[in-house]
Amino acid sequence: MLFSADQKVHVDKQGALKESLQTVDGTFQSERKRTLGLCDIQLNGFAGIDFNNPNLNPEDFHRSMQALLRTGVTNVLPTLITANQGDLYRNFEALERARAFSPIAQMMVKGYHLEGPFLNPAQGFAGCHPSQFMGRKPSWEKFVSWQAAAGGRIKLLTVAPEMPGVLELITKCVESGVRVSLGHTNASHEDIRKAVGAGASLSTHLGNGVAQLLPKVDNPILSQLAEEGLTASFIADGFHQKPHVLRVYIKAKGSDRTILVSDGTAASGTVPGTYYLGATKIQSKPEGVVHLFGTQNLAGSAATLLECLQNVMSWYNTSLEQGIRWTSIQPRKLLGWPTTQNVGDLAELLEWEYINDRWTPASVQLGTQIIKIH
Ligand SMILES: [Zn+2]
Repeated sequence: MLFSADQKVHVDKQGALKESLQTVDGTFQSERKRTLGLCDIQLNGFAGIDFNNPNLNPEDFHRSMQALLRTGVTNVLPTLITANQGDLYRNFEALERARAFSPIAQMMVKGYHLEGPFLNPAQGFAGCHPSQFMGRKPSWEKFVSWQAAAGGRIKLLTVAPEMPGVLELITKCVESGVRVSLGHTNASHEDIRKAVGAGASLSTHLGNGVAQLLPKVDNPILSQLAEEGLTASFIADGFHQKPHVLRVYIKAKGSDRTILVSDGTAASGTVPGTYYLGATKIQSKPEGVVHLFGTQNLAGSAATLLECLQNVMSWYNTSLEQGIRWTSIQPRKLLGWPTTQNVGDLAELLEWEYINDRWTPASVQLGTQIIKIH
């Protein structure tokens, strides 16, 4: 979805469009293009700030949203990973306080992603999540209490469908309007089919959150790739998958079922160093990889979604239109959110310029605010 780069954008005092934006098709030739802003459905922290902190400071969160906007993301699901029940509750309350404090966060944060705690605690599948808080029988009451703390804004829940009681939870979540994704899972093909039957619609960072060694003829990656009822998200930072492997995954899953996420952390959009992801210490290295402190195990990324988009455009010669489908349009569709810019919609726009043989973002507009990017 491209918008005409020539039409003037008129917004009211709240930043809502006074006129619908005209669309142009992918053959539109121009040195300037205009698209929707990026939409990151998995972001654990940004610019030195960890969202997985029950004592999250509203001013810090506001600053991290400002920094995120400067990378072209206008829409984000702050993501909480596995923690104990009380910490998750307090953390959602802290996010809601921070959101209420910051007008920019109110525009950017329309929901949250809860990745855990009903995941597979086995080594390799748990990834960097604290496995001591996994493996308990899920309860709808627990989820409802987190949802209440989150102001009803948990829009996406990642679960492992092989864990006892999870299929029932999927059904209830989907009935309540929450999208359910599969991740950190060692589910059989049968369990994955059942999860899709119960309403699961996404695979979270497919290809990661699994053991290093898997049975070659049947494993949860292949089962999810084969399942046409599942869209898949991938982390295109160059570390979670080698570019040639990601190419195979995207081909197998199909372009229309592909979403890119950053899985970024406090280490994203800032300098290499030591940061936290919840109670877990992580280390981002100068080459851009993030490890669980003192190990070689991946622990989220330091990439921005814009960098992931630019990676795929350079690795595979992906067009800007296609890349925007993976980083903006398809995540919004998954969540049931609009993908056009009509009268009354909040302006969420990226302007691109073709410079030195690549598309580069020139400015981002969110409501009345326009920020130059380069
Ligand atoms: Zn994960």
